Amino acid sequence: MLSTEEKARYARHFSLSQVGLEGQEKLKASSVLCIGAGGLGSPAILYLAAAGVGKIGIVDADAVEVSNLQRQILHGQANLGQSKLDSAELRIRDTNPHVEVVKYPENFTSQNALEIAKDYDVIIDGTDNFPTRYLSNDVSVMLKKPNVYASIFRFEGQLSVFAPHLGGPCYRCMLPQPPDPGTVPSCAEAGVLGVLPGIIGSLQAMEAIKLILGTGEPPLGKLLHYDALQTQFREFKLKRDPECALCGEHPTITKLIDYENFCGMNTPPPNNPAEISVTELQQKLSNNFEGIFLDVRETWEYDVANIPGARLVPLATFPSIIPELKAQGLDQEIIIHCKSGVRSDRACEFLRGEGFTHAINVAGGIDAWLKLP
Ligand SMILES: [Zn+2]
Repeated sequence: MLSTEEKARYARHFSLSQVGLEGQEKLKASSVLCIGAGGLGSPAILYLAAAGVGKIGIVDADAVEVSNLQRQILHGQANLGQSKLDSAELRIRDTNPHVEVVKYPENFTSQNALEIAKDYDVIIDGTDNFPTRYLSNDVSVMLKKPNVYASIFRFEGQLSVFAPHLGGPCYRCMLPQPPDPGTVPSCAEAGVLGVLPGIIGSLQAMEAIKLILGTGEPPLGKLLHYDALQTQFREFKLKRDPECALCGEHPTITKLIDYENFCGMNTPPPNNPAEISVTELQQKLSNNFEGIFLDVRETWEYDVANIPGARLVPLATFPSIIPELKAQGLDQEIIIHCKSGVRSDRACEFLRGEGFTHAINVAGGIDAWLKLP
């Protein structure tokens, strides 16, 4: 039941037939989990709070820094140094004291994600990195909760709602494999115009509210793309992939995995014989290495920087050299590197599949090599 004060507060909603008193009570009874209280989370959380969503959970382990304030409108000058959760809570209370705020001062991980997310109706993905994005997707699919996805880059943003249980695709249907780490710059590297997450995060709040009210059409199977420079919204169709490893007909992902590893963020253990560190590579090369040493990056990457002695064979053309390699013996030592170790790992796996016994990946790739003292 809404109090007299609440009825006055939400008066503008009552003349909308899609909301009304009944819808407002739905909002009050609802809960939304926002992963991240940053650029996207800021407007999303503020509008959800203002609209009267009863419970808002926020996962964020960071403190407010001055460089956040250009876009993260939940936080202000007075909150510098404070945890983003405490700052967000103060701001929410000021906007709407009727909202219950639940704070999770930790990173969203495979260990805590299911436990945290299970109590919420809708999940808002306000993350800025691939491991957490895949985790957020997988948790949502496993718990059958709609995942309001968005991402931003410089002057462009995109939005969708992933919900296989409502008939749409999931994030993995759109992007089965994460990009090679290092190939997609983060917002910190690439920059982002401050108002962009304001627009896209507000769209996320709108979709969450529509889902709660059960009104309108959520963008299931639809990717909305916004180009701020051209002032253009475009739509792309997304199809559910029957082969999707998570929501497909024969899923291979049935529990949460190691997402850092999946996204190639981890340096593998040094004892893995199929992998060597750049230090080991340096030693081998300075000891007159007699095996085969390959670089599977693209030509332009090779031109920017390369490791002396490495032969360039871009991954796409890799199968063409198999006969030549086979002629030198399947037990020949073959060391392969790329930018960060992901593409070369694929090449090694391919070689092992072809029967080669000594395909060795260079962990960390040329990125790690260039950092050698
Ligand atoms: Zn899927």
